[in-house]
Formats: sequence, structure tokens, C-alpha cells
Amino acid sequence: MIVAKSLDAALIALREHDDARVIQGGTDLMVEINFNHLKPTTMVSLRHIPELRTITRPDGNTISIGSGVPYSQLEIEPVASVLPALAQASRTVGSPQIRAAGSLGGNLGTCSPAGDTLPVMFALDADIHLQSSDSHRTVSIHQFMTGVKRNVKRHDEIITAVDFPIIDGWQGYSKVGVRNAMVISVASACLVADHKSGDVRLALGSVGPTIIRCRETEQWLKDNASLTHNSVISPDIAREFGARASRECSPIDDHRSTAQYRRHAISILAARLLQKAYS
Ligand SMILES: Cc1cc2nc3c(=O)[nH]c(=O)nc-3n(C[C@H](O)[C@H](O)[C@H](O)COP(=O)(O)OP(=O)(O)OC[C@H]3O[C@@H](n4cnc5c(N)ncnc54)[C@H](O)[C@@H]3O)c2cc1C
Repeated sequence: MIVAKSLDAALIALREHDDARVIQGGTDLMVEINFNHLKPTTMVSLRHIPELRTITRPDGNTISIGSGVPYSQLEIEPVASVLPALAQASRTVGSPQIRAAGSLGGNLGTCSPAGDTLPVMFALDADIHLQSSDSHRTVSIHQFMTGVKRNVKRHDEIITAVDFPIIDGWQGYSKVGVRNAMVISVASACLVADHKSGDVRLALGSVGPTIIRCRETEQWLKDNASLTHNSVISPDIAREFGARASRECSPIDDHRSTAQYRRHAISILAARLLQKAYS
């Protein structure tokens, strides 16, 4: 195990060891190792790198969260007021122990469609910073996640931070699982209502190979903009919104749920989030 004390040291270690895996909180990686799914010979620990644990406001419109920031910090201020949906999503992750160790970067590194922070990133059009020893690039979350546990990050790159736009509006996250706590989602949704542009954005988790942005449902609401003007959404409109969202997802049957139940859950989650946004 190489315990890096700086980002540069971690990047050099990655460049010099082709087989190295980075580890932050270890709440995903150690499970993979314990089940013998992975046998990395070199691990590069990012846990003691202060640069990855910062929360900054590079400009008035953006909040940038370091990849090593754990959920226990994302649940509270200053994140809770600026990104309430991210705070809500973080509060639903695992147990206090998992939230103390697990990080935003680890959720992205694993890139499971059930990752709780990912629908928030998709609904807010977040940008991911990727750093290697000789280059830096910023990738939209829409390009970053390419499939189930697949993303465009190269082996020699470290996710350093995620930039979230600060919106003037409402945002919320909800998830359904087989019980109330310590549960991977069966279906999840993040809704953002941007009061400045009037746009409503909806992203769904656990109901497709990637997080799904419901572009058609969003457009339907926009085309019927008068529906949101009265600041109260009727139950009929909310139901129609939910029904349209459920048609945009492509869930599967698996050990956690059936596709049919997942579609039903999405229709309810989306409808409720829309009503909350305008209540
Ligand atoms: C009991 C339990 C309950 C859980 N509950 C939930 C839940 O409710 N919701 C949920 O979304 N997840 C849950 N998880 C999964 C896990 O906690 C999260 O995905 C967490 O965000 C992983 O973060 P980590 O820092 O522990 O990542 P690690 O395990 O350290 O790493 C995960 C992967 O990301 C890579 N990685 C980590 N950091 C970086 C980086 N900066 N740059 C590049 N690659 C990186 C690693 O190489 C590895 O492939 C649970 C896990 C357990 C064990």
C-alpha cells in the first residue's frame, strides 16, 4: 500500500504502477477484494491528501467538492444549503460508519447505476475533474458514465473534484429500497426546478445501465409551461409527469426488485418530487 500525502505523489505512484488501484474510503473496493473479485497488487491510498477534501466556491455560480469529501460532510453545511439534493442523497447512504468513510469520488469510481449521488450530478449537469501526472481534463457527468460500473476515467487519472452549478430554485432526492436504512436503491430520482430558466430536470437511478435523464418528460413539462406557472401542480399533471418518466427508464428484474415495480416506483417518486417542487 502506498499512502500518498499529496496529489502529485499519488499521480506519480499511479504512473509507475500499471496494476495500481486507488482507494479512498474503501467501502466499495474492500468488498470487491474480500469477495476475491479484485486482487490488486498495489494500492494507492488517497485518504491523507488534503487537496481532495476541500469544498470551494471558485465563482459565484459553482461549488466544487473534492473527491475525497465523505458523505458525513456532504450531509451538513455548507453543502446542505447550496446542494440540498446532494445532502439528502448522502443521508440515505449506508450507515454512519459508511458515510464517515465513503466519498463522492468513490461513488463515481464505482459508477453503479444505484450510486446515490449520481442522479444528483445528472440532474444538475455536474462536471468531473480528472487529473493525471501530465494532464487535466473536465468531463460532463453525461459523458463520464458510459455503462454499468463503466466510465471514461483512464487508469492513470484520479478524480479530483466535482463542480456543481449553484441554482436558484428547488432540488430534491428520493429513493426506494427494500427497507428504510442501510439499503442500495431499487429506484431513485433527483428533480431540480430552476426558477431562473424555468426548466425542470429529472434524473433516475437504478432503472437502466446508466443514470437516465428524462429529456422527453422535461420537454413535455416545458411545452406545457403554464402547468408550472401557478406554482401549484395539480395531482393530474404530477401523475402524468410520473407516468412519462416511468416510460423513459429501462429497468431490469434482479435480486432487489422487478422491472415492473421499479417503473411503478419511478412514477410515484417523480410525481411527488414535482409536487414538492411547486408546493
Ligand atoms: C454496507 C454498505 C452500504 C452501502 N450503501 C450505499 C448506499 O446506500 N448508496 C450508495 O450509493 N453506495 C453505498 N455503498 C457503496 C459505497 O459506500 C459508495 O459507493 C462510496 O461512495 C464509495 O466511496 P469510497 O471512498 O469508499 O470508495 P472506494 O471503495 O475507496 O473506491 C471505489 C472505487 O472508486 C475508485 N476511486 C475512489 N476514489 C477515486 C478517485 N478520487 N479517483 C479515481 N478513482 C477513485 C476506486 O479505485 C474504486 O474502484 C455501500 C457500501 C457498503 C459496504
